[in-house]
Amino acid sequence: MSTQQKDVYLVIGGSGFVGRHIVDHLLARGDVVSVFDIVQRHHDVPFYAGDITDEQQVLNAIRKSGTTCIIHTASPPHGAKDPSIYHKVNVDGTRAVIDAAVAAGISKLVYTSSAGVVFDGSDVINLDERSPYPEKPFDAYNDSKAKGEALILDANGKGGLLTVALRPAGIFGPGDRQMMVGLYQAYQRGQTHFQVGDNNNLFDYTYVGNLAQAHLLAADKLVPPSDTKPIDPELRSSLGYAL
Ligand code: NAD
Repeated sequence: MSTQQKDVYLVIGGSGFVGRHIVDHLLARGDVVSVFDIVQRHHDVPFYAGDITDEQQVLNAIRKSGTTCIIHTASPPHGAKDPSIYHKVNVDGTRAVIDAAVAAGISKLVYTSSAGVVFDGSDVINLDERSPYPEKPFDAYNDSKAKGEALILDANGKGGLLTVALRPAGIFGPGDRQMMVGLYQAYQRGQTHFQVGDNNNLFDYTYVGNLAQAHLLAADKLVPPSDTKPIDPELRSSLGYAL
């Protein structure tokens, strides 16, 4: 698809915290968007009920909605009782999304990954996207997010599909059902007098609206190589590594 044509979006996991903000940002700029999710929480856009582990359900939603760009935010929340759900949804389900996208001739697939894909429990300092996944993942959730991300990146170019993955760390903002809830529960349990580290720990938090905007920008920049401008040599050298 050329940069001139407007995409039609399907937000998978669009009933969730991040997905909902992505839908709102797309609506605000006048884009056509549908939601695919196992639950419906909003009623202002076309909704397709389904599970990403079922490729046919994803394919049906893509075809009925006329989707050209998928934004895949779906995942079970961290802390599930049965950790096997993570592999099922984040690895097998992501594979099904990719297969459905390729079968439907979709041109763009944006994936919400996680900063946890490079976390093994020890300090991580100055890592970037060139760093390998850890040999021993921190837990089943992070492992599944890393494997899902790897599938997404490997699918780049498959049948004309262009892919990108974003790795948020902590996310805050309206609609959050995890971070503030967890902090408040720690407060209720009286666990506010513990300190981890020497008060110099750094952790990256992103406002959900900025993350939503980042997904739109990533989708906008996913264009075939023939449509891209060569990278400014000055920018290339300022980044310090080959792009
Ligand atoms: P969320 O739980 O609010 O939203 C996820 C949505 O995915 C839900 O609406 C859920 O119903 C849907 N979903 C789950 N399994 C599905 C399935 N099998 N088929 C279809 N839909 C399914 O979570 P969120 O906080 O919005 O997270 C969105 C993405 O961001 C996830 O991929 C998560 O791994 C990633 N992420 C979140 C955080 C965070 O702090 N919230 C941090 C880093 C990365």
